[in-house]
Amino acid sequence: MKKVIIIGAGPAGLSAGIFLARDKIPTLIIEKFSPGGNMLLTEEIENYPGFPNGISGYKLSENMKEQFLKFGGEIKLGEVERIDLNGNKKIIKLKNGEFLESEFLVIASGSTRKKLQVKGEDDFIGKGVSYCAICDGAFFKEKEVAVIGGGDSALEEAIYLTKFVKTLYLVHRREKLRAKKYLQEEAKNNKKINFILPYIVKEIKGKEKVESIILENTLKEEIIELKVDGIFISAGQKPNSEFLNGIVKTDKNGFIIVNEKMETNIPGIFACGDVIKKSLYQIITAASEGMIAGFFIEKYIENL
Ligand code: NAP
Repeated sequence: MKKVIIIGAGPAGLSAGIFLARDKIPTLIIEKFSPGGNMLLTEEIENYPGFPNGISGYKLSENMKEQFLKFGGEIKLGEVERIDLNGNKKIIKLKNGEFLESEFLVIASGSTRKKLQVKGEDDFIGKGVSYCAICDGAFFKEKEVAVIGGGDSALEEAIYLTKFVKTLYLVHRREKLRAKKYLQEEAKNNKKINFILPYIVKEIKGKEKVESIILENTLKEEIIELKVDGIFISAGQKPNSEFLNGIVKTDKNGFIIVNEKMETNIPGIFACGDVIKKSLYQIITAASEGMIAGFFIEKYIENL
């Protein structure tokens, strides 16, 4: 049985791991794709302390991974299917059928982009529909592209995409944007960005690939068709908590409820990062929550 297993190698999981591994507590992180989590989707991070010239999401991910491995931490690639309890033992079933057991468990599995759930969305994934501007932006050189959403991610992605595209439409369902003021200013000053407010997407149309989107005005009766080659959906996040199997308390949207020590309602199970219910979803908050979880796990182990 492992002492500590962490699910997810984003900034929360890696920070918890760094704290524990540095204190010589055997720690295994299970990661589905590649260490870094959603940081890997961010081209340039400018608000993480210690990097006055900014740092790429990829580089920050690599640095955190290296720091964890340097202290003796272990990373295993795998996808968690479900979690069960047997007394104090946490039993983790992976999708490949393997079972792992641990005394303490940290859920740091992050969040995934929400879908719009409109006609055409699933049909055109990879054929003009994307959820990651950094991954797919370069495919849209000199094209007409729409970004859907009015949050920080939508505006950051819109600004980023203007490096490639000919015209960028920022489609948001309200007249007021949710994003931080400085991002709003930057987007408004960018000549390639056209704001299409307040509209929701009704349908994504095309033959082999995306050709247009049907938009409905949310304040008056009006439907328009916008010719685009691509649509980047940035409508918020949903927590990666389906594997919890109902054993850990969440809110109605699946975000895990924790106390100030990052403890869930189940003794020995902690959670941190974008998978928890909180008011600020940032790399620095995820990292500090990971550290808090690590700290209190260590305190429990000391007092056992
Ligand atoms: P978000 O803040 O939840 O914004 C989601 C946006 O999508 C909102 O504008 C929302 O509209 C819109 N939306 C949701 N469902 C929709 C639907 N079905 N159809 C059309 N539009 C829809 O999500 P986010 O931008 O991914 O950010 C997540 C968190 O990460 C936030 O806390 C954010 O501050 C943080 N973040 C920070 C930075 C940074 O500081 N540089 C960068 C990225 C993310 P409404 O506004 O009408 O609800």
